[in-house]
Amino acid sequence: MIAGRTWTAWKAWLACAAAIALVLLASVPARAGTIELTPATSEFALSPHVGYLHDTTAADTFDDAWRRLEAGAFQPLPGGNPAFGFQDGAFWVHARVVNHHPEERRWLLVQTYPLSDHLDLYVRHPDGRVEHQAGGDALPFAARAIRYRHPNFLLDLPQGEPVDILFRVQSQSSMQVPLVLYTPAAFTELSRDAQLAIGLYYGILLALFFYNLVLWLVLRDASYFWYLFHISAFGLVLFCLNGLGFEYLWPRNTWLADKSVPLSISLALIGMHQFARVFLGLGERWPAGNRVSMVAIAAFVGFGIAAVFVPYRVITPAVSLAVLASSVWITVVGIAAVRKQYAPAKLFLLSWAMFLAGTAIYTLVAFGVIPKTFYTEYGVQMGSALEMLFLSVALSYRYASLRHENERIVSEANVQLERKVAQRTRELRNTLDQLEEAHSRLRESSRRDGLTGLFNRSHFHDAFERLLLACNEERRPLSLLMVDLDFFKSINDEHGHLVGDDVLRAAAQRIGDALKPHDALFARFGGEEFVIVLPRTDLRAAVAVAEDVRRAISSRPCVSQHGPDVVVSASVGVHTVVPGTMDDMEDALQVADQALYAAKANGRNCVRTSISAA
Ligand code: GH3
Ligand code: MG
Ligand code: MG
Repeated sequence: MIAGRTWTAWKAWLACAAAIALVLLASVPARAGTIELTPATSEFALSPHVGYLHDTTAADTFDDAWRRLEAGAFQPLPGGNPAFGFQDGAFWVHARVVNHHPEERRWLLVQTYPLSDHLDLYVRHPDGRVEHQAGGDALPFAARAIRYRHPNFLLDLPQGEPVDILFRVQSQSSMQVPLVLYTPAAFTELSRDAQLAIGLYYGILLALFFYNLVLWLVLRDASYFWYLFHISAFGLVLFCLNGLGFEYLWPRNTWLADKSVPLSISLALIGMHQFARVFLGLGERWPAGNRVSMVAIAAFVGFGIAAVFVPYRVITPAVSLAVLASSVWITVVGIAAVRKQYAPAKLFLLSWAMFLAGTAIYTLVAFGVIPKTFYTEYGVQMGSALEMLFLSVALSYRYASLRHENERIVSEANVQLERKVAQRTRELRNTLDQLEEAHSRLRESSRRDGLTGLFNRSHFHDAFERLLLACNEERRPLSLLMVDLDFFKSINDEHGHLVGDDVLRAAAQRIGDALKPHDALFARFGGEEFVIVLPRTDLRAAVAVAEDVRRAISSRPCVSQHGPDVVVSASVGVHTVVPGTMDDMEDALQVADQALYAAKANGRNCVRTSISAA
């Protein structure tokens, strides 16, 4: 069967250890001769004891081969190695066996390589009788003597009788004749161990698959998907290489059996590269390495497609090299991620090392460097099972570290946010304070007169109304003084408005000083006219204050920076609001104004009350 050719692609992974093993094996001498099956023998590997013949045209019949054997054309296997690689034609292998076992007449001959196409077993007895059995995966699986993943043949070996075994292999896959003789009991035990190992292996793989499938469905993290992809494809690779694919999945489909090995190898490598990329976050950590990995993935996609259409002899060397390069490259990216301080990469490397170690052990066993035990024989399975297990642990570890990282980022962001909010609140409070200050300044300036700094008329109205109400409620008198500068127009006319302004300011200052002892409301009423409210003050006291004010204004000349000093006087009208008599503010102002007119009429620079004016 052609599928076996990619066996070499698989073996490329083993190449390094193989080189050492080959050197060791070259020193083992081949011993062709008669094989004695003693009562102590229960299992016997034929390879070191057989002779072989390469029939390059695959045209020889049994009789031709027999003649050639008798002519001494058979050679011992070079180094006892039963693998010839890709070869045209057919290979004949010969062994003479004598069974000295008193109880075991039936023996089982097993070809421990599952992928050969055509196998023919000829058993020649001393009387010249020849028995023929056919096998190999070109025949349906059911044609085997025992339903087992390796081709096998039942032999009847009479005690003490030398029997010639001639075994012919013709295959488009790698030519291999690793033949082993077993007693039925030994074979039963071997297959028990093998079934246990394989069952354990696929049990672990299935458990990991479903465990991580659930995690992927829940977490939706791409690296879980690629893990599942890799584990499935890799499980399939071993399933095909072990001969289990043919046994269980496609016992009649020789086309699929052909393509399954290179296809599954390509898929497994796509999965592994993709997993490494996503798991290690190569995109961010090492963009150049990430590009190399993507090229590798593209190459394996190409190999997968080519495996279906292109002859194996063309595709196999390329795939072999790519597989070997890939195992080195995956190690390189793992190391690179560790060096970039990415903690989960350590577990990734450890997993990968398990796999490489398992593969190396398998190779050393295959070449006889270390003894074959239950544990060493299944090195690849054990290595890859440990790899899958550790990768699964690595995935959880990575997930946990991502979660911690996220929590750290969120809490840092929260702290920053809180800091920002506090800062913004401070700024806002400052702004509000400034606004409040500006507002109060504005409010103050809206109450003030620009020239004198006194309250203006609109504020005066509000304040006066409140005082009027308060005094009325307290049933206390309130006095109102109207002060008007005398002949002010002529000051303006004579000295100019700037001097007039100075006189206004000076008069305001003097009135203010005179009012200091009193709790008075004082405002500029308009022009050169001022108004004063004295709460809780009766008329007599108000007249006294009015006199003080009048005197203060005319006490000395007003100093001006814009002209000569000017003497100014003022007339004052006084009106006292007695509680219960008159509440209205406008009326009070009008009455006070009338008193002022009276003062003007009485020669100015004097005080008149509403009573004296009336
Ligand atoms: P009387 O003694 O009758 O009050 O005469 P008067 O000249 O003081 O009164 P009148 O109402 O005829 O003139 C007031 C003048 O005050 C007219 C106006 O130009 C002037 N005046 C009003 N406000 C201001 C001001 O803010 N600055 C200056 N320089 N003059 C002002
Ligand atoms: Mg006036
Ligand atoms: Mg005036």
